[in-house]
Amino acid sequence: MECLFCRIVSGAIPATKLFEDDHAIAFRDIRPQAPVHILVVPKRHFASLADPNLSGECEVLLGHLLATVNQIAYAEKLAHGYRTVINTGPDGGQTVDHLHLHLLGGRAMKWPPG
Ligand code: AMP
Ligand code: ZN
Repeated sequence: MECLFCRIVSGAIPATKLFEDDHAIAFRDIRPQAPVHILVVPKRHFASLADPNLSGECEVLLGHLLATVNQIAYAEKLAHGYRTVINTGPDGGQTVDHLHLHLLGGRAMKWPPG
């Protein structure tokens, strides 16, 4: 199994896990860009948000990932707000080819992003 996040999902590579259910896991980003930087990752492998295997039936999964972000933000006490990012493909700045949502918080974010 080559995919880094699939290996974290399987437990082959350690991560600081905060949440896990049948469909997703969440763990702290190894190179945090904010005081709180967490990745929410589907257990099933999709290369990105643009993966053609993400068919209509996956809309429930995508909604679940967003709901998980919000649940974790509450647990992390991000009452002042937070940012959710999905980098997609080379122009999107994606570096790990397994769909994931970034949850960034604990400081005021700037706009536009780089
Ligand atoms: P992206 O650039 O959107 O593909 O995000 C990939 C993220 O994965 C980056 O923020 C990395 O810091 C993070 N990352 C890479 N390897 C690990 C790892 N072993 N554990 C936790 N986060 C990682
Ligand atoms: Zn994967």
